[in-house]
Amino acid sequence: MTLSSNAPDAVSAIADISKPSFAALGLMPELLRAVADQGYEEPTPIQVKAIPPVLQRRDIMGCAQTGTGKTAGFMLPILQLLAPQANTSPSPARHPVRALILTPTRELAAQVEDSARTYGKYLALRSTVVYGGVDIDPQMKALHAGVEILVATPGRLLDHLHQKSVNLSRVEILVLDEADRMLDMGFLPDIKRILAVLPPRRQNLLFSATFPEEVRRLANGLLHGPIMLEVARRNAPADLVSHEVYPIATPRKRALLAHLIRSRDMRQVLVFVRMKRDARRLARQLQHDGIAATDIHSDRTQAEREQALADFKEGKITALVATDIAARGLDIEELPFVVNYELPHTPEDYVHRIGRTGRAGLPGDAVSLVSPEEMKFLEDIERLLKRKLPRASAPELPAGARPAHPARGARREPHGQRPQPASHPAARPAAPAFDFTKPYEPAATATPPKHPSARHPHDRRHRPTAALLGGGPAKREPHKS
Ligand code: AMP
Repeated sequence: MTLSSNAPDAVSAIADISKPSFAALGLMPELLRAVADQGYEEPTPIQVKAIPPVLQRRDIMGCAQTGTGKTAGFMLPILQLLAPQANTSPSPARHPVRALILTPTRELAAQVEDSARTYGKYLALRSTVVYGGVDIDPQMKALHAGVEILVATPGRLLDHLHQKSVNLSRVEILVLDEADRMLDMGFLPDIKRILAVLPPRRQNLLFSATFPEEVRRLANGLLHGPIMLEVARRNAPADLVSHEVYPIATPRKRALLAHLIRSRDMRQVLVFVRMKRDARRLARQLQHDGIAATDIHSDRTQAEREQALADFKEGKITALVATDIAARGLDIEELPFVVNYELPHTPEDYVHRIGRTGRAGLPGDAVSLVSPEEMKFLEDIERLLKRKLPRASAPELPAGARPAHPARGARREPHGQRPQPASHPAARPAAPAFDFTKPYEPAATATPPKHPSARHPHDRRHRPTAALLGGGPAKREPHKS
């Protein structure tokens, strides 16, 4: 992704530091010591690019994913900028909130605050974290005592603002972390309310893994003469992944997907779509076709997402239909199949999607269903991968065949699914525990028959598979609007 072409007033940050070191970035001894304590030998690319301009109090628009070291990239210079005000006074008035960091989830908020403590251990600066789903009283106490660095999820921060337990009138630095995810989760109104109570003169840092239009709009209204930073994604696709492209018209995709799931005995498949409403619809259609499916995206609560993942992990769910952003928070290992029901519009997202399979020395299949309108996105992907992906031809799916469990009144596909043999394992019932978008009809309740064939290389009954990183027993942040 090229950011500079979309930001006319942007200055491209060119870090010409031949041998990067934290000391060469201008960090103070207390921070160098804390970094050395962590065993970091050299700064990551985003740290090399971000630390000097943040120290110069420039606004930043950073394209970087979690995992690139971006947290230290903004936290280290923030600590340095605040260090002159560090003090050990017990008076709350001596510890106003000077840096505010907003994150989409409580897990990320906790990690970010943890890094403030880790890197700030030799400085007398205070930090705390506030997020929803937990008792607000201890958070109020910490805020009343005074903190220089506040990490928050937007909804809970608004709760504190309403209860007047926090004063943001002295904020000098604002960070929006994972901005795309915050907007995807519907936090824009909350963010706007928070921005309205901040002092207008301040430094703004915005980080996002993707830059869709709404993130750009937010950035345009927020950032002044930003430095644009971009770090390359890890875009080397796993060697073990085999790619397959099915050129197919959009209306036939659903039947092909159901056919592939069954004919290839896919027991755990992550299916990507671009929009959350399509995730919802496709999961429901697959259920109607007798395939245990659910959707995972930001409109579902944290508890629902965790449940969906747990069911996927246990093999109760065959197909997990996800959007790119929702899938980013999941660490799913040893996944045998990834299906691109729709191609992403940025080729890097393809690499990110297929990085879900072909791990841990096991082969993986990345299957893409590509409509004629999507061919241009396929060309972009092939350009990035520097090779042409093999085409497969879709089988003749018998016209008129019906999905295994059609919903009453459900629209029938022109090329229906071949009726499922009773003994086939893919004809598992949909898990009944979910509150899917209404109306919802649970599929048949027969217990799944045992599969007669030899053990599948990715047989989930025998090995641990999907794990949710950063999930925890959390509820989703309550949404204020
Ligand atoms: P982040 O992208 O900020 O979530 O960081 C990802 C991981 O990289 C964290 O576990 C950090 O502790 C670690 N990390 C950050 N900077 C460095 C560095 N310069 N060298 C080694 N590890 C780092």
